Amino acid sequence: MTALVWFRQDLRLADNPALYHACRNGEVIPVFIDDPLPASVSRLGSASRVWLHHSLQALDHDLRANGNRLILRQGSALPVLQQLLKETGATRIYWNRVYDPASLARDKHIKETLRASCEVRSFNACLLNEPWEVLKADGTPYKVFTPYWKAMLKHGIQHLPLPAPERIPAPTHKPQSLPLDALGFLPNIRWDSGMMEHWQVGETAALQKLLEFLPTGGMDYMDARNIPAHPGTSKLSPHLHFGEISPRQAVWQTKHWLAENPAAESGLHHFIREIGWREFAWYLLYHFPHTVDQALDERFHHFPWAEDYSETLQRWQRGQTGYPIIDAGMRELWQTGWMHNRVRMIVASMLSKNLLVPWQEGEHWFRDTLVDADLASNVLGWQWTAGCGADAAPYFRIFNPILQSRKFDPDGDYIRRWVPELQGRDKQQVHLPREPGDSGADYPLPVVDFRYSRERALLMFEKIKKPDGKKW
Ligand SMILES: Cc1cc2nc3c(=O)[nH]c(=O)nc-3n(C[C@H](O)[C@H](O)[C@H](O)COP(=O)(O)OP(=O)(O)OC[C@H]3O[C@@H](n4cnc5c(N)ncnc54)[C@H](O)[C@@H]3O)c2cc1C
Repeated sequence: MTALVWFRQDLRLADNPALYHACRNGEVIPVFIDDPLPASVSRLGSASRVWLHHSLQALDHDLRANGNRLILRQGSALPVLQQLLKETGATRIYWNRVYDPASLARDKHIKETLRASCEVRSFNACLLNEPWEVLKADGTPYKVFTPYWKAMLKHGIQHLPLPAPERIPAPTHKPQSLPLDALGFLPNIRWDSGMMEHWQVGETAALQKLLEFLPTGGMDYMDARNIPAHPGTSKLSPHLHFGEISPRQAVWQTKHWLAENPAAESGLHHFIREIGWREFAWYLLYHFPHTVDQALDERFHHFPWAEDYSETLQRWQRGQTGYPIIDAGMRELWQTGWMHNRVRMIVASMLSKNLLVPWQEGEHWFRDTLVDADLASNVLGWQWTAGCGADAAPYFRIFNPILQSRKFDPDGDYIRRWVPELQGRDKQQVHLPREPGDSGADYPLPVVDFRYSRERALLMFEKIKKPDGKKW
């Protein structure tokens, strides 16, 4: 009995229930489909496409080491799968679920259509638990992280990670595959080589990264996670996004390490809690699918965003705002495809509050440029910072980029690394925007006055009222 295993955001062999169960009952044909889903929000950004190319290459390598290979196809998923079933005589099709609204709708339709002719099974491989499993006593979903996470921990993680299958039996006649390059995930003008110098892609690299992180970062994660100049976080986010490692594996490995190193306890519990934020992001998107591009807080549907913001948006995107910490973050993003979480919050606050650019513009830019671009976490991060999402930062919390910079990059090392124009500045001066008449004309004057723009944002927030007409 041959099975198609349809890989999506689960590009690994271990803890892959679809692959594991398929391998127990016969031959397996691993498939990846480059499916141009109708909903544009599901399309990958440029940096993610590059990552995906390398991740598929790594998966194919691992499958070949097991005597199998990855079959690549392009086109709308249902007809591609139907064609593959016809070509191979497969009678089973297994996949691991993905939870963005467009994919959920597509997969439901595929399941209903194919069920008549073959066995169709789907599994959870990308979350700790299913989003519908943890609900409030009244059956509605949580909107605040802390009670949600408490309920999650009480519910427990229902399944231990699975091992990689011992064998991945291949059929004698493998179907034809497109060459990886034909999918066109790499750019024609090769801007990606500098970015990829910062990363090792694939399942082996992901596990290695976690194992290296646990003893070093794990010891002082609580403090180190806020300092962008030092690698105090795991940098697992792109690996988790593409499923090169599962959240269950990450949590299980961490707990296992904690059992052997109890002194590291508090830091690593916090690390597990951060994985909980990823889980919460997918939970919210599942229960409130409209938040892909609309604020969860309805008052923000009428927020008076700036009307003509193309120039300020461009300066922000290019790391030319004249605020050193913001420009450092935006340039780190451009050069490496990643940005430190603390800096993500500061740059997002500047765009959505000081520059009054709709948060969706920032979300789009991040989606295009982050290697870990993840619909749910990105939407959550932007709505949280803009003050319009679940459990959001209150509207009056407008990050002051100078104070944040002094606090979290006290010596200015992060700024000097990414903004070479400021290399000569000492640790007092490096955080400050340039004043008119200052030397150093190669660094721009600030895009906006912070104090003025803060007051302006607060006024704008005053204009949107609660549904009952009262103010905040
Ligand atoms: C405006 C904004 C946009 C963001 N966009 C994304 C995105 O597109 N993709 C993405 O994976 N994360 C996003 N985040 C969350 C966070 O910045 C990254 O997950 C984190 O920086 C990844 O680095 P790390 O793997 O070293 O994290 P670690 O600190 O090592 O955390 C471990 C894992 O927990 C998860 N995690 C940590 N913090 C968060 C968080 N706040 N929300 C959700 N999950 C979290 C990630 O999967 C991460 O890999 C965004 C945050 C903000 C403020």
